[in-house]
Amino acid sequence: MSTPRLLIVEDESIISRDIAQQLRHFGYEVVGQAMSAAECLAIAEREHPNLVLMDIHIAGPADGIDAALELRERFSIQCVFLTAYATDDVVARATQARPLGYLIKPFDQLSLRTTIEIALNTDRAERQLREKDASLQLQAAALQATANGIVITDPDGNIQWVNPAFSALTGFTPAEAIGRNPRELVRSGTHPREFYEDMWKTLLGGMVWEGELTNRRKDGSVYTEHQTITPVRNADGVLTHYIGIKRDITEQKRLREQLNQSQKMDVLGKLAGGVAHDFNNLLTVINGTAELALDDLPEDHPLRPDFLNIQESGQRAARLTRQLLAFSRKQVLSPDLLNLSANVEGTAKMLQRLIGEDIALVVETEPSLAPVFADPGQFEQVLMNLAVNARDAMPKGGTLTISTRNVDVDRALVAEHPELSAGPHVLVTVTDTGTGMTPEVKARIFEPFFTTKGIGKGTGLGLATVYGIVEQSGGHILVDTEIDKGTTFRIYLPVAPPNVKALGLGMDKAIAARGSETLLLADDDEGLRWITSRFLRAAGYRVLEAKDGAEALAISAAHVGPLHALLADVVMPGMSGPELASALVARRPGLKVLFTSGYTEDAMLRKEFSSDAEHFLAKPYTGAQLTSRMRRLLDS
Ligand code: ADP
Ligand code: MG
Repeated sequence: MSTPRLLIVEDESIISRDIAQQLRHFGYEVVGQAMSAAECLAIAEREHPNLVLMDIHIAGPADGIDAALELRERFSIQCVFLTAYATDDVVARATQARPLGYLIKPFDQLSLRTTIEIALNTDRAERQLREKDASLQLQAAALQATANGIVITDPDGNIQWVNPAFSALTGFTPAEAIGRNPRELVRSGTHPREFYEDMWKTLLGGMVWEGELTNRRKDGSVYTEHQTITPVRNADGVLTHYIGIKRDITEQKRLREQLNQSQKMDVLGKLAGGVAHDFNNLLTVINGTAELALDDLPEDHPLRPDFLNIQESGQRAARLTRQLLAFSRKQVLSPDLLNLSANVEGTAKMLQRLIGEDIALVVETEPSLAPVFADPGQFEQVLMNLAVNARDAMPKGGTLTISTRNVDVDRALVAEHPELSAGPHVLVTVTDTGTGMTPEVKARIFEPFFTTKGIGKGTGLGLATVYGIVEQSGGHILVDTEIDKGTTFRIYLPVAPPNVKALGLGMDKAIAARGSETLLLADDDEGLRWITSRFLRAAGYRVLEAKDGAEALAISAAHVGPLHALLADVVMPGMSGPELASALVARRPGLKVLFTSGYTEDAMLRKEFSSDAEHFLAKPYTGAQLTSRMRRLLDS
């Protein structure tokens, strides 16, 4: 400990000098000898002595008691009073100044020394106490002010203290929380018993537990928090408390799940699209070969049923592939300006047949619905899939309600569902009064092949298709469901911009048609080239075949005579279909072009062809579809 530094205030210089001498003799440092209160304060401000020896009776406007009060107030410096005599009045005032000691003059060395030592000790102790107090106050203020919810419990988990952030997070005031157990207060029933058993095992083992908890607020809403629970032990190592520190991560978790979900759907979409692409080529060949054979076989040929079988299964496979493709959002759509109210009403009869008589179908359409730009056939598919699911969810009957209306998607809804964009939308809701779904099922329904229905009953592709169609149409689908209450699907489709014109293209009639023109066929798939040229030749055309763009250009250059049309696959190695087409049309003006594709990665191409249905034929196609489209193209 450093040498105590003392200040003497005494207006009789002989006494002052004598005291100073004694103090130095004891080993103290004397930082000054003041004659008046004013001088005392000036030295104190400069030197900050540990203690002041203060004569009560000093000359000047202020006496020693006044000086002592000011020293304490301004510099937290304490005094020992020196006095020879004192009236009751002065003693009373001196006591109020709370000196650390009195020395009655004349005093001996021993009393001087002990009084000073005791005073220095007392001052040190008080100082330490004050510092500790201040640090405790700071800690308390920090606990109150922190954004993290803090809860302190006894070893049984009964709440003893909570901070304001805890109340803000849970909705429980300190009065409501204290004395209760978090078990009864906030537990949501989300976590299995083992979860809490594990937590207690960690805590009882004296270790810190850290994890994510989904809890329930006072108002019943559910939130997710990150919590760290620390066991607190006293000096003897006995567990006395637990301190829980909570952070609200509800929003963070929701965003994380949303990201995971969209990434998962993306990966699944790529996979599904890739599979569908290869299958489309294969199915065009399989179905086409069966079609050709059936054309050639006489009505009573014994092999006919076999080929019919192949054709039927092939067509089923083509439907499945189309669903996969729809999910992968890689379909070439044929959108048109639609009034979905009309489309819903138009399919009502068919939907009622689909769901059966035990289920009532209620259609509530908005007559002045804004137009959307969507593929009518695909939209019908959406309604059918949702209706079939609703039927399956209402085995004992119920009500299926389909409604349409105009809505304005506002910022609040976008904040909740970032996939939506703000602005005018058409909202189609499909509501059933069926079984509803658990949160676990709800989380997975849009995945392809996810089904809760028995083998042979569900394919798990219904909602995947719906999802793909809606997303590819620029919309978004949301689902609300409650066990035993029912389910509502909400489909938001953006209102079509005013400059979009109706196309009014019908479905292909697909009546086989013949011709004798010369056609150039470019496709990199050998099987597909083979079946396609067989279709076309069987219909009377002359067909030149190329396996890619380069070969097609070479054939065209070597060919003397007219070329009437190019039939080109969109995606080929090297030169793409559209690139080939523009190169050829430059050399042979007037050449007509029909593109085919089952799938395209390229969003630009998809857009281009969707508005140009005249020049696009989707795979897999039948011979009839191909030849009728080719005829129409050549005649246009
Ligand atoms: P599938 O109908 O072949 O099972 P879907 O993709 O159409 O495949 O649906 C996936 C799953 O979503 C269903 O198996 C079912 O569990 C659930 N589901 C879909 N629609 C509803 C509904 N309206 N009510 C309850 N559950 C539904
Ligand atoms: Mg289904």
